[in-house]
Amino acid sequence: MNSIWVILLAAGQSSRLQKQGIAQKKQFLSWKGYPLFWHSALKFAKIPEIKGIICTFPPEDVSYAQNLTKELKKKKPLGIPFYPVPGGELRQDSVYNGLKNLPQECDYVLVHDAARPFFSAKLVVNLIEAFTQDLGGVIPGLACKDTIKKVSQNLVLKTLARKQLMAVQTPQFFPKDTLIKAHEKAQEENFTATDDASMVENLGLSIRVIPGEEKNIKITTKEDLNMLTENTPTPVPCVGFGYDVHRYGGPRPMILAGVPIPGGPTVFAHSDGDVLYHALTDAILGCLGAGDIGEHFPDSDPQHEGQSSSVFLTEALHMAQKQNLRLMHIDLTIVAQVPKLAPYKKQIKKNIAGLTGLRSDQINVKATTEEGLGFTGSKKGIKAIAVVTAIKEEVGETES
Ligand code: MG
Repeated sequence: MNSIWVILLAAGQSSRLQKQGIAQKKQFLSWKGYPLFWHSALKFAKIPEIKGIICTFPPEDVSYAQNLTKELKKKKPLGIPFYPVPGGELRQDSVYNGLKNLPQECDYVLVHDAARPFFSAKLVVNLIEAFTQDLGGVIPGLACKDTIKKVSQNLVLKTLARKQLMAVQTPQFFPKDTLIKAHEKAQEENFTATDDASMVENLGLSIRVIPGEEKNIKITTKEDLNMLTENTPTPVPCVGFGYDVHRYGGPRPMILAGVPIPGGPTVFAHSDGDVLYHALTDAILGCLGAGDIGEHFPDSDPQHEGQSSSVFLTEALHMAQKQNLRLMHIDLTIVAQVPKLAPYKKQIKKNIAGLTGLRSDQINVKATTEEGLGFTGSKKGIKAIAVVTAIKEEVGETES
């Protein structure tokens, strides 16, 4: 198969939704963090044979769509060209405008309604594979479950034979030249069609139907929009716990969350011995289900010798970002008999806010003693406890 391009139709006015009181056009509705049309684009972009996408928008929305697309490409790149172009009054006018904007090297076209975001990449591959040169195109269809009647003025004219009926979907696959011819013939004959296959049929060519997908519905009514809500995963809250101890009397000067504590007891450590950053890093790893700081930054690794522990924290924060883990709150407790830590709490909080991007009301720093008890009480060491509250968000990915 040579070069396949997609004409993605996002030029609808959502008139049925508007009648139901929803002002926003459905192609721009947000689902899992992206507008509806971008979900189709992301899915097509995964298929290696597909070389680019022409997307039609209502003419008044094209410049908005251009800016929006620039942002979307930064957030979630497609890896193939995506060109917004104006659509027309009728669906077929939009497709024809898309056809006129296709590059010379394009041989085959997939036409798809952006209001169908739930199709699978597998369906597209099946369409492409089912095409043979004797055909005018390949489309997905499902057997009708309902009995369909021809009706005029609320009176039944005829009951159609259900066995012969199929409900067809998009994407629909055609050779580019065939589809252009079909559209030009339809224009000459003033033939209005609700899908592209009808126009290719009108050329006298055969269209093959392959099994469509039940989930590949077209978002048309307010009720359909609920499908989007149901498909949005609920953010999952999680809590991570971190605990760390360092022994006094070692070679490293005391440092807490990057704040030097002049005159404080020195500590034993392979890294810089920042007990607070260690506990915090472990708490974040706890939220991620990703083990502990020793697994990620072993103290046998000479690279970490004397290293600033902000590096460990930053790395854990990167891991959090990659897994869509959003930190909501950090609560820290430092336990030490000596030194007095109250004067440093403000700067500690500031450093943590700087690295995590949290507001100061989302970070709490406490310092306490153990009343002379235990190893902290006997001034043999320091411990730190961190509790991180976060939300796991699954955004952006649509399945297969
Ligand atoms: Mg440690």
